[in-house]
Amino acid sequence: MYDYIIVGAGLAGAVLAERLAKKGNMKVLLLDKRNHIGGNTYDYYNNDGILVHKYGPHIFHTNSKDVFDYLGNFTDWRPYEHHVLGSVDGQLVPIPINQNTINSLYGLNLSSEQVQNFFDSKAEKKDVIRTSEDVVVNVVGRELYEKFFKHYTLKQWNLDPSELDASVTARVPTRTNKDNRYFTDTFQAMPLHGYTKMFQRMLDHPNINILLNTDYKDVLDAIDFKRLIYTGPIDAYFDYCFGKLPYRSIDFKFQTLDKENFQPTGTVNFPMSQPYTRITEFKHLTGQKHDKTTIVYEYPTAEGDPYYPIPRPENMEIYNKYKALAAKEANTLFTGRLGTYKYYNMDQVVAQSLSLFKKIMQHQLENEVPINGHKLTTV
Ligand code: FAD
Ligand code: UDP
Repeated sequence: MYDYIIVGAGLAGAVLAERLAKKGNMKVLLLDKRNHIGGNTYDYYNNDGILVHKYGPHIFHTNSKDVFDYLGNFTDWRPYEHHVLGSVDGQLVPIPINQNTINSLYGLNLSSEQVQNFFDSKAEKKDVIRTSEDVVVNVVGRELYEKFFKHYTLKQWNLDPSELDASVTARVPTRTNKDNRYFTDTFQAMPLHGYTKMFQRMLDHPNINILLNTDYKDVLDAIDFKRLIYTGPIDAYFDYCFGKLPYRSIDFKFQTLDKENFQPTGTVNFPMSQPYTRITEFKHLTGQKHDKTTIVYEYPTAEGDPYYPIPRPENMEIYNKYKALAAKEANTLFTGRLGTYKYYNMDQVVAQSLSLFKKIMQHQLENEVPINGHKLTTV
């Protein structure tokens, strides 16, 4: 008899499996329909011996010491600060837009204060910031918005920024200083031997069994268990009874080149008319030394694995209906990027799972604490 079946061996499922098995001393069956653990962070050595991320570049960054320390139990870290250049007007300029970007793009030599004045002179001030267009034009105005955000966003989401929640483009700030880093989080590092190795260490425990190549729906009836934790798409769990939740997918096109180096930074973004959004060269991220190099192009699509929840009001309305149903499921808990339809980074998913684990343990102790708005059936 398993205490928990956990659907999905990505970060959300693996963190809960590890905590429940080691801290909670519970028996866990972790299953995934894919043929590997790690979910979308899965990495592997390709035929040329280069460490690549199967589902697109994954760069770890967080402001949470708890999350960083927790993952540090399973991996050493390689300090890494991600840099992104944008291919704009025939130049490669830093993204997020900053003092260096403006000076390169317009052939100027503005101070930080002058860059602020430049932005102020261009900004279209909004009383209310509602959409992803508002966020950008409110700070830098329409010209830079068109150059850096409008077309990239159209490609990535097949939506105009004015049709997306503000939170999407708000992920990319605007700066007036010369900080060329993509992220400013306190902790920025890559797992020294990759994500998959980190997962292997996390899940190496006698209380954890792993079943791959398995859709949970095919085996649930055959297995004795007390509770389920579900990290797959929430609409699929409920057989799409309120309709499909839209997700955005990506076609990843990998290329290995017979040269040591392809581009100057980990990622180059293409915010103009190319059909792909960005190219990432893995060796920058992993620090691997090799006489060849592997790059990946990202072509956004509507069909394929559900990678990105699409943050906009009409989708939240559908999600909220599923969420209300989820709250009534006596023995199932929902978490993760797909289980809660949230555009979460890795560290947010880890934090969410650690917090759910705490709730579960509290409930075990007190048998009173509601989880997901209801009490779990006492077992
Ligand atoms: P997932 O990793 O998606 O795991 C869910 C698992 O459930 C999957 O393995 C799936 O196969 C399994 N599953 C689903 N349905 C079933 C079923 N019926 N039966 C069995 N198994 C099932 N975050 C960062 O912090 N930094 C980055 O640089 C970054 N880059 C990203 C780039 C891309 C292209 C994408 C798509 C995401 C990126 N992320 C990044 C986000 C990161 O991938 C997620 O936050 C994190 O991996 C989510 O973990 P999860 O466990 O919730 O979901
Ligand atoms: N974005 C953009 N131009 C850029 C980078 C980002 O328009 O050069 C917008 C785009 O809508 C993108 C969002 O900002 O989807 C978030 O970017 P981020 O790099 O965080 O996306 P992710 O790494 O999650 O794909």
